[in-house]
Amino acid sequence: MTSRNQSLPGRPPGFTYQQTKRGLLRKKGPLALQCEDIPLTKLAQKFGTPLYVYSSQTISERLSAFDRAFRDIPHTICYSVKANSNLSILRLLARKGCGFDVVSGGELERVMTADRRAAKRVVFSGVGKTREEITAALKAGTLLFNIESESELWALAECAGRLRATAPIAFRVNPDVAAETHPYISTGLHKHKFGVPISKARALYAEASGVRYLKVRGVSVHIGSQITDASPFGEAMSRVADLVRELRRDGHEIDYVDAGGGLGISYDQPDAATFPQQVAAYAAALTKPLRELKIHLLLEPGRSIVGPAGALLTSIIYKKSNNGKKFLIVDAAMNDLIRPALYGAFHEIVPVTVHTDQLAKSEATDIVGPVCETGDFFGRDRTLPMVEERDVLAILDVGAYGMVLASNYNTRPRPAEVLVSGKSVKLIRRREKVSDLLRAEL
Ligand SMILES: *Cc1c(COP(=O)(O)O)cnc(C)c1O
Repeated sequence: MTSRNQSLPGRPPGFTYQQTKRGLLRKKGPLALQCEDIPLTKLAQKFGTPLYVYSSQTISERLSAFDRAFRDIPHTICYSVKANSNLSILRLLARKGCGFDVVSGGELERVMTADRRAAKRVVFSGVGKTREEITAALKAGTLLFNIESESELWALAECAGRLRATAPIAFRVNPDVAAETHPYISTGLHKHKFGVPISKARALYAEASGVRYLKVRGVSVHIGSQITDASPFGEAMSRVADLVRELRRDGHEIDYVDAGGGLGISYDQPDAATFPQQVAAYAAALTKPLRELKIHLLLEPGRSIVGPAGALLTSIIYKKSNNGKKFLIVDAAMNDLIRPALYGAFHEIVPVTVHTDQLAKSEATDIVGPVCETGDFFGRDRTLPMVEERDVLAILDVGAYGMVLASNYNTRPRPAEVLVSGKSVKLIRRREKVSDLLRAEL
């Protein structure tokens, strides 16, 4: 059962097509998409669909590639929990020494549940931290608070004072750098709600340094998500480096620069082969302006670590044709994966079983969910090999911003999640039941 088929778009090393053999004569069977050593059809049968499947090898390899790219500079990778916050995935990352970037008290609690000792490698970001969340983060011993407004500074000082604790802080500066990405996930322009204007930073640091219970430690920046070109990262970082020099001249101790996350992935083709070079280019762009500053770099990647590590399995419920326009109606919907509806995002969609004789007979079709919204689609005019009702499809690259954005719209229970590691399969979140949804209602 080996030999990889290069013409079909898997996502090595996690998701690859393998040639099956059958019968006594070991004749060639269909090609089967596997997650590591496990055929996806088996997982669909055992756990049902829709089902999120993750490859632990992919996550580990991408994390290592990231680490290697930054080997020349002292750094800590603080994985951005919001990309995929399943406890088992956090545990896998924590075991590899990863820190975490959290944006809510809930995410902090997840990290503490996954690994209590990871708290000292947690950075707390977010534009609207409440006093309750701040207090919990102070008690946990958070590494760095990324402050996004003057009001938040005073709230933090007040909470820290009450606990007689010292809060390590950085301001998240808005460098006013444009990055080419979807407008909903671009954050580094002055018109966006994020951070404080870089032009106001010196005054804010001066203010913070006089406050008891606060300790200035660094400068933070995050310009957006799904940015595939390294130059805006370099541009933002050179502005940050200038600021670090100014702040040091003003007498502040700046030990950390937090570069945020945002490195994009390729959604239209596998990127396992090119990812190391891509992170290397990203690392070069970030570290060049920081040379000679002797800072400890914090990195907050999310999507680039887990995105290609996940697939969403979904079964075809019905095939239908309206005046020649063809549809596959599947059992997953926008509530399970909202990226196409929310951002017009492209995800490759492939059958988990491909009969070689069907490869030639492909047809253009829309892949849509059962929810009553025209936005409830996964792909439009996609050319797929012939598939039938009850066949299983895999929607690729859904490891980031997939399950975390799932909802119960249409009273649809959220999918189960499984984590594959070689030949082992672990259910890491059971499928929700309608009764789970009704429980909280009075
Ligand atoms: C969302 C976010 C990240 C992660 O972004 P990715 O594009 O997933 O790498 C990192 N830092 C902050 C502050 C964020 O808001």
